[in-house]
Amino acid sequence: MSDVAEMHGAIKDHKKRLRATYGVPCPECQRLLPRANPSILLPQQTCRIHRYKDQRPELTDEQWSNP
Ligand SMILES: [Zn+2]
Repeated sequence: MSDVAEMHGAIKDHKKRLRATYGVPCPECQRLLPRANPSILLPQQTCRIHRYKDQRPELTDEQWSNP
């Protein structure tokens, strides 16, 4: 077990938590591709498929650190 791998896992976990807490499915994905898994967007993130941008204000450092 290496520290690098551990850190990598922690970052992945954190991103997963962020998405679980603040992520919303792209409405265009849901409308146009109802059978596919929609892109999960965080505030101000853009769907790569539809160029749909989430309009919520960006997360504060506090929100980002404690999802
Ligand atoms: Zn989309």
